Amino acid sequence: MKVCDRFDDLGYSDPDETYRLGIFGGTFDPVHVGHLAAAERVREQAHLDAVVFMPAGVPVFKLDQKVTSGEERLAMCRLATTGNPYFDVSDIEVRRAGNTYTYETLRELRAHYPANVQLFFIAGADAIITLGKWRNAKELTQLARFIAMTRPGYSQDEAKRAVYVDGERLDVDFLEVPGLNISSSYVRACVEDGRTIRYIVSDSVRDYIMSHGLYR
Ligand code: ATP
Ligand code: MG
Repeated sequence: MKVCDRFDDLGYSDPDETYRLGIFGGTFDPVHVGHLAAAERVREQAHLDAVVFMPAGVPVFKLDQKVTSGEERLAMCRLATTGNPYFDVSDIEVRRAGNTYTYETLRELRAHYPANVQLFFIAGADAIITLGKWRNAKELTQLARFIAMTRPGYSQDEAKRAVYVDGERLDVDFLEVPGLNISSSYVRACVEDGRTIRYIVSDSVRDYIMSHGLYR
């Protein structure tokens, strides 16, 4: 089964080489420049060969919220990332039925890629603060190396204190990225109020939001 477009066969061509594949999970409702700038810095700093944006099908921490369809969130991720040769998008979580659990995704990716592909899971400080509550948190951090990015408004110290399960520290690396105080919630609120979102999302994503009448 195909997991992404550009990097689906990573690792197979040269078994003697090792590859570093970043997985960037989120809701991406919509994807914004905070996501893009952060992912690009992580790619560079962690020497990743690729970063795959992975929109969640049914995000378990947002069950009480209205979320845009997976197809539309995927489409926006594709539009936003297409110009970066290191970026890719995966639809495996959107295609999977039921709530989205990251450990299922990482298991699937681990089974898909050969052993010379190392997996890295990328998340912002706010997400890392909740990591101890994710299903199978310990197994998760063994399936992939976790990279926690700084995010304005969220304490890095709190994130560092949060990466424990049963008193045991989870394997998480902390990395500083450009501090862009932008969220998808903010983008949605701007559209709802009729305020501009130019330069906060890519032009292609902005056009998509407008032509599909999202967030009104
Ligand atoms: P929402 O407001 O709807 O929650 P969001 O901007 O937080 O949207 P998500 O899709 O929830 O976006 O986040 C996906 C991942 O990207 C999370 O790990 C989150 O921490 C990270 N992230 C989002 N925005 C930023 C940002 N400006 N800087 C660093 N990391 C970010
Ligand atoms: Mg969020």
